[in-house]
Amino acid sequence: MHTFSYVKAKSLKEAGDMLAAHADAKLLAGGMTLIPTLKARLAQPSHLIDIGGLAELTGIEAKDGKLTIGAATKHVEVAKSAVVKKAIPALAYLASQIGDPQVRNRGTIGGSLANNDPAADYPSAALSLNATIVTSKRQIAADDFFHGMFTTALDASEMIVKIVFPIPAKAAYEKFPHPASGYAMAGSFVSQSGKEVRVAITGAGPGVFRWKDAEAALGKKLNAGAIDALAVDATDLNEDMHGTKEYRANLAKVMTKRAVAKISGK
Ligand SMILES: Cc1cc2nc3c(=O)[nH]c(=O)nc-3n(C[C@H](O)[C@H](O)[C@H](O)COP(=O)(O)OP(=O)(O)OC[C@H]3O[C@@H](n4cnc5c(N)ncnc54)[C@H](O)[C@@H]3O)c2cc1C
Repeated sequence: MHTFSYVKAKSLKEAGDMLAAHADAKLLAGGMTLIPTLKARLAQPSHLIDIGGLAELTGIEAKDGKLTIGAATKHVEVAKSAVVKKAIPALAYLASQIGDPQVRNRGTIGGSLANNDPAADYPSAALSLNATIVTSKRQIAADDFFHGMFTTALDASEMIVKIVFPIPAKAAYEKFPHPASGYAMAGSFVSQSGKEVRVAITGAGPGVFRWKDAEAALGKKLNAGAIDALAVDATDLNEDMHGTKEYRANLAKVMTKRAVAKISGK
């Protein structure tokens, strides 16, 4: 039987020191992914460092054109926050669509981004909104953070502390949820800031990605018809019992059109 030590961190520093001291230690936030992973014996850490209750990792603030959310902030808190609803309503909506009430009451934004499940919702918002992931060591632009399926730029002893989202002029998120889990079969987060439009697709491929052809077309004309002639390249998309590559490519386009229509009314 595998045994491990459980430690409830009292401060960010204590969590960071423990993480650096034990090569096989793992951070525990909401536990929504990590606990099932432990139960399935897919991870066997020496230490579980619980950062779930750390005040230094919570808090939501909108200031100087930026929305900052602490890494241990739960999905339900983002979904219900008046600050998020005012600054980036699409982000509050996204959080409200994650999983089910139990998952939203435990899961955290930092855990979701660190885990980088290819079907998770938050990575699309971080990438589309050009967020900065602030860690215990540095600041990482979303464009450099997501490295494909369950892989990020984080090193083994690095902790996400907060996420800083530039507040866009307009944004919308649409996903086609898997009926059992709520994870995205395909989801599209579309945002406009100045003249720039960024489109991030989740669920369809091995990791979140930007659909740059759509960004260029929507940058010229922000309406759903502007991408009628475009198609998401299906070559590297996911294929499983739930859908083919081509099905997911089409879903990604449909979700993008719905998100654009939500923003532009067209
Ligand atoms: C039934 C079910 C349905 C779900 N549906 C959805 C869905 O529809 N959409 C969706 O997006 N997600 C979904 N999820 C995932 C869920 O929303 C959580 O976001 C996700 O499980 C990870 O967050 P957590 O806080 O629970 O992290 P944990 O499970 O505690 O940790 C996950 C990983 O992240 C690491 N980690 C945690 N916090 C940090 C940090 N601050 N810095 C560095 N590393 C860290 C941990 O060490 C671990 O490796 C679902 C989960 C379940 C169980």
